[in-house]
Amino acid sequence: MRIGVHVSIAGKIDEAIDRAAVLGCETIQIFSRNPRSWKSKPLEAKEIKSFKKKRLQYNIYPVLVHIPYLINLATPKSKLWKISISAYIEDIIRTDMLGAEYFVTHLGAHTGSGFEAGLKKFCQGLSAVIKKTKPKTMILLETCAGEGTSLGSRFEDIRYILDNVKSKNIGVCWDTCHLYAAGYDIKSSKGLDNTIKEFEKKIGLKYLKAIHLNDAKKPLGSRVDRHEHIGKGTINKDGIRRILNHPKLKALPFIIETPSDNPKDDIENIKIGRRLACLTTGKTR
Ligand SMILES: [Zn+2]
Ligand SMILES: [Zn+2]
Repeated sequence: MRIGVHVSIAGKIDEAIDRAAVLGCETIQIFSRNPRSWKSKPLEAKEIKSFKKKRLQYNIYPVLVHIPYLINLATPKSKLWKISISAYIEDIIRTDMLGAEYFVTHLGAHTGSGFEAGLKKFCQGLSAVIKKTKPKTMILLETCAGEGTSLGSRFEDIRYILDNVKSKNIGVCWDTCHLYAAGYDIKSSKGLDNTIKEFEKKIGLKYLKAIHLNDAKKPLGSRVDRHEHIGKGTINKDGIRRILNHPKLKALPFIIETPSDNPKDDIENIKIGRRLACLTTGKTR
């Protein structure tokens, strides 16, 4: 098991690794640019080189890049769909330039056109992106909480995409807060086993490559996407402990994405995560 957090890329992108090293991360997630803007400034060769060098130096593996928030490949609006594809392509190129192992993608929202239409649009968009970029990075489909019209709160949505996008380079990223909000009872021992069984049956465990380890503010099935600090939410310490130590999950990278009001929160979340994972010390270096 490797534990890390989502780290900021403020400044130059390689500074994310400096932050990760201070926090003692073994794996990280980043944005490749400002996630709330369509614009991005090009990555410089120097910062890319330094990013790669530092992550080797600090043994940070894997590196996940998260999709910017504005992209919606499931939208029925053709203008938004087209800019989403261009932005997606740009982000995949940046991810490959950084040599990041995974690109975590949300499945978008159908905003009224219906789930079937949204899924079709998403598959069409993702296929176009893959055809154009032939990514080295693996694209991970993230499970969503099911707020509003967003796709991906059911394993069936993920199965549909795997069946309709022809690429061997696609995997899945769980988000524990989202699964719980979507109604998968991963908090209880039996519920966790059942969720894993259902995933094995509908998707296949070999597709699961990473987990966003977040506690939840809201109860099971709330469909509300609000993350809570590790052990302090409705999934709670026992639930998180079982997830981290489950024999079928424990070899995966775990990325904590809880709201970080100050850097101490990240340190504390990693500490609690490691403690619950029965690791008393971080990695030694
Ligand atoms: Zn996400
Ligand atoms: Zn979330």
